[in-house]
Amino acid sequence: MKLSSQGKSSAEVLASIRSMQRTDVDWRSGKAWAYVYYSDPELLDLLQSAYLTSFSDNALSPRAFPSLQKMESDVVAMAADLLQAPSANGNMTSGGSESIFLAVKTARDFALTRSPDIMPEIVLPRTAHPAFNKAAHYLGVRATRVDVDADFRANPAAMAAAVTVNTILMVGSAPSYPHGIIDPIAQLAAIATEKGILFHVDSCVGAFLLPFARRLGRTVPDFDFSIEGVTSMSADLHKYGYAAKGASLVLYKSADIYRFQSFTFDDWPGAHYWAPNLSGTRPGGPIAAAWAVMNFLGEAGYLDLTRRCLQTTDALAEGIRAIPGLSILGSPQLSLLALGSATLDLASVAGTMAERGWSLSLQTPPPVFI
Ligand SMILES: *Cc1c(COP(=O)(O)O)cnc(C)c1O
Repeated sequence: MKLSSQGKSSAEVLASIRSMQRTDVDWRSGKAWAYVYYSDPELLDLLQSAYLTSFSDNALSPRAFPSLQKMESDVVAMAADLLQAPSANGNMTSGGSESIFLAVKTARDFALTRSPDIMPEIVLPRTAHPAFNKAAHYLGVRATRVDVDADFRANPAAMAAAVTVNTILMVGSAPSYPHGIIDPIAQLAAIATEKGILFHVDSCVGAFLLPFARRLGRTVPDFDFSIEGVTSMSADLHKYGYAAKGASLVLYKSADIYRFQSFTFDDWPGAHYWAPNLSGTRPGGPIAAAWAVMNFLGEAGYLDLTRRCLQTTDALAEGIRAIPGLSILGSPQLSLLALGSATLDLASVAGTMAERGWSLSLQTPPPVFI
């Protein structure tokens, strides 16, 4: 494509986009089991309206946009309270990957200030999200992945054994994305405390489900700041926070750690530069939409959505278990599950499901992931 010489009408441009979208996955039907966390048209409408209120605004300047600063700090405070550290510090970010990047960067700089001669390493279960390796790669940090047990849970003894004098951070997931399994966070955090290192809980996909699942009577192990030793957490608003895309949170229990997150630069004619995040310009839309959805739903709204989500998962799991040859891997407690089969070719099952409009992800090694 080349830039058109005269431009096109807005109607024509929008019609072209809609036409390209015809082959996209139909997430409104509930047949897409990843990528979009959609509840209903009313909430979508609110998100879009709220997003547009701050569409052109830029959170890089709290002075120019105190509204965004206020909304961001409200969102941080509501999430911190939910995750049992009302005084936690942190920021909204563009997504889980940026939250994780910042947590690793902050841990690195925190550790290097104390021990300038180490070669920083992080220790994580094999099931932890690739964003940790991405962050480690960008930040000159070594990432050591440790095998999980037969139930896909992090193995505390093996994690402890992987810690070296260079380890700055240990990671656990609540839950992991591939299997929806919650790592033994309390045990891992105790090991990290004993070794004198920081501990991050990646609750990108679970932070806005687990607290509500527990209030609904589900058995939810401790996973958040209520555990001594948990020093930072990542929590995606744009997953089960039901916010608009481009919205996640990174939170730190202690201001002494959080202060290593931001970046300042003084030797630039443009201005004194200070940014808490990886991004410079930060779009206002995701902040306003997240603030709106949290205030709109409140605890009752999240409880209702969580109940519906878990009931749907239970029904799906029951159906899957009733199909000869199919099984569910491990014992997932939330809304994520992975299928396995000793007898069926799951790639062809996924292909047939795709022909019927269902979007499933294939894991490596084989099993199908929902
Ligand atoms: C989704 C997810 C991430 C990454 O988040 P993005 O928003 O895709 O960058 C990290 N960890 C877990 C457990 C996730 O589910």
